[in-house]
Amino acid sequence: MDNIIVFCETDECGLCDISLELVTKGRRLAAQLSCGIDAIVVGEHVGQYSSELFRYGADTVFCIEDARLKEYSTLPYVRVITALLKEQKPQIFLAGATNIGRDLAPRIAAELKCGITADCTDLQIADYTDAEGKTYENILYQIRPNFVGNQLTTIASPKHRPQMATIREGVMSKEPSEHPKQGKTVEINAANILKDEDFAVSIIERCIENKPCNLKDAKVVIAGGYGVGSRENFELLYKLAGLLHAEVGATRAAVDAGYADHSTMIGQTGLTVKPKLYIAVGISGQVQHTVGMDKADTVVSINIDADAPMNKFANYVIVGDARETVTKLIEQLSSKQ
Ligand SMILES: Cc1cc2nc3c(=O)[nH]c(=O)nc-3n(C[C@H](O)[C@H](O)[C@H](O)COP(=O)(O)OP(=O)(O)OC[C@H]3O[C@@H](n4cnc5c(N)ncnc54)[C@H](O)[C@@H]3O)c2cc1C
Repeated sequence: MDNIIVFCETDECGLCDISLELVTKGRRLAAQLSCGIDAIVVGEHVGQYSSELFRYGADTVFCIEDARLKEYSTLPYVRVITALLKEQKPQIFLAGATNIGRDLAPRIAAELKCGITADCTDLQIADYTDAEGKTYENILYQIRPNFVGNQLTTIASPKHRPQMATIREGVMSKEPSEHPKQGKTVEINAANILKDEDFAVSIIERCIENKPCNLKDAKVVIAGGYGVGSRENFELLYKLAGLLHAEVGATRAAVDAGYADHSTMIGQTGLTVKPKLYIAVGISGQVQHTVGMDKADTVVSINIDADAPMNKFANYVIVGDARETVTKLIEQLSSKQ
């Protein structure tokens, strides 16, 4: 009761990064609230994930077991998680703003008749005073870019429990706890909760597209914008990336112009990256883009406009043409190979 509960996703590689990011953030919020942090894992043989979740600070891991839950499916997952939340009555429930989390969390919110903030980029705890002057203590501030994306919006839902939010992948760090706990695993037999109608939709075949690149975890990212000028020029970014062991990302304008694939888009409606080095080539630096890269350690901006907003983010600015500058960098680096 009154704990924080986190929904943890798994895939064929094990616990997804977002699950550990959420447990890490949840652990910090729980310390502020002096409450526990619990995790839910759903599927087959999910008990194997408990020790990893304890290492990240989970107090209790609820393992909802059933062979039929091996693959994600909306209705049965909503059924079993809603049942557990009704029983546990957490004050906060968090899920990733992944394809699964975006499908699952709003349906659970509807079942529990509480609000939800989708796609948060930060969470904080603070007191909240409403329009009538009533103060609610220790409320979850759910922070996300607003719909136009020029500002951050803070949303609070002080009157309903749980306070629910989905969190974007990659914006929170995943750090094992300095004081790992000997937590408790609670195994839940889902067969007692599931109903036949939950399986009205059955999975005939699962086709999973391989991710074309691993931008999210890349240490070096070269991102191209509209100023790169053409798909052909974008190829130069890939050549430079090969020399720097980097991944290539893009802005929405570059994607819309057909220079780059949508899956490489960085920003509010794309990926969030946190590389050690971010090289922005021909990118103006609109907030909808920078919200996806502003945690990069070092930023280099290559732009013909010395006053481009991206240059304010940059540790190093090269004022020059994208094609010319990238070609020179390739020549320099190639000669040192
Ligand atoms: C709701 C919403 C969500 C959005 N989500 C995203 C998102 O997730 N990600 C995203 O990126 N955008 C997003 N956008 C779009 C965003 O507002 C910007 O339009 C976009 O980021 C601009 O991309 P850009 O910097 O490549 O292009 P531009 O703004 O056109 O900038 C091009 C830059 O290239 C420079 N340049 C031009 N020629 C050269 C040259 N030869 N050499 C070097 N530099 C040159 C220019 O000086 C300029 O700074 C969103 C917008 C909205 C409204």
